[in-house]
Amino acid sequence: MRKFYIKTFGCQMNEHDSEIIGGILEKRGFKATDSIDDADIIIFNTCCVREKPERKVYGQVSNLKQAKLNNADLIIGIAGCMTQQAGEVERIAKRLPHVDIVFGTMNIHELPELLDQVEAGHKAYRIWDKEPENNENPLEGLPIRRVSGVSAWVSIIYGCNNYCSYCIVPYVRGRERSRKFEDIISEVKDLGQKGFREIVLLGQNVNSYGHDLKNGHDFADLLHALDQTPGISRIRYMTSHPRDFTDKLINEIATSKTVCEHFHLPLQAGSNKVLADMNRGYTLEYYLDLIARIRQAVPGCSITTDLIVGFPGEDDNDFAETLRAVEEVRFDSAFTFIYSPRRGTAGASMHNQIPDSVISDRIQKLVATQNIITGEINKGLQGKTVEVLVEGTSKTNPSMLSGRTRTNKLIIFPFHPEARIGELVKIKITKARSWTQLGEVVSV
Ligand code: SF4
Repeated sequence: MRKFYIKTFGCQMNEHDSEIIGGILEKRGFKATDSIDDADIIIFNTCCVREKPERKVYGQVSNLKQAKLNNADLIIGIAGCMTQQAGEVERIAKRLPHVDIVFGTMNIHELPELLDQVEAGHKAYRIWDKEPENNENPLEGLPIRRVSGVSAWVSIIYGCNNYCSYCIVPYVRGRERSRKFEDIISEVKDLGQKGFREIVLLGQNVNSYGHDLKNGHDFADLLHALDQTPGISRIRYMTSHPRDFTDKLINEIATSKTVCEHFHLPLQAGSNKVLADMNRGYTLEYYLDLIARIRQAVPGCSITTDLIVGFPGEDDNDFAETLRAVEEVRFDSAFTFIYSPRRGTAGASMHNQIPDSVISDRIQKLVATQNIITGEINKGLQGKTVEVLVEGTSKTNPSMLSGRTRTNKLIIFPFHPEARIGELVKIKITKARSWTQLGEVVSV
């Protein structure tokens, strides 16, 4: 049986797209392998939110040139966001001539036809340049080879209309298109019957869900309809845009049984000048007020964020405001990024690009500030008993199990005869740490 190997870069949306690519290849008779050397087809599912993952792809695919010379039947493919960038297909054809197949973010459903072309001895390059008609969703109903047996990704909306000045996503994933309400509900019902315990709803901006649908349902309505789906103990969602986080949504999450009390709300910067230049559509004051409303409605919730350092024009005062915001909000944790100019975005043509030396100094200060806060917050977990969904063996210590709390804290703990994967167990935190907390099972 021929084997396939998929290397995925980037976000959960890409991870889920790789599950669909895997589903299509399995349906075509391929078998998954974790060894790139054993594969008959190798697909790189790419990301282009920053320069680094792009460079990695070119490097890793170049390294396969000899493998292709040794085995002419080996199929090498590139998929995902990077392929959709202007002129990228031409760049791939020129710099990586041993690549057989290139397909875009909305061309995954055409993979069987493209493979037919390749197996007939041709190159097959296909990306989209025009949005699908009538809100069609080309990915609906495709086979999915899910990686986890406990937690399942479910896309609810594709693309983004926000055009934040630093972001390439709207150019490579298109405008927002919501999946039909009933299609999402039946998929989640089916997953509950199949034994999945957690659902992670995916979208570049899940809060925009439904604005393009005629039935007037929004994200809060969707969460309400999915709450207490038989078999599903937890619902998570990513990624939210603070501007679209309504009181209706906060109230729905506060009163829901299964929607987890973890809010990931990318702030990106603390300075109103930089937020305006980023085209984020909110001010720091608005953001702080939103956090206060969430913490009042959902006491004990966790709040995490994304922060960018070094956006064009960010001066010392602007950066100081980001540090002040971090100290004021006290995020449970933060993903911190160095600004990376993306071709075609508004930010890339802005003046006042910040020197690398200044950026690296700022990112160190930001990470140090946030790590202290994360450590202090996690110290508060010491001795507490929390509900954990057992996800599997720990990635960092295979002799232990791991799982998450409803507030998305990662807990690792010794094996326990009754702590089975997919079960909810009560864990007492015995040692609080920065990223993973140590604990022991107290009841199941
Ligand atoms: S909301 Fe902004 S940062 Fe997020 S995907 Fe859309 S354009 Fe990019």
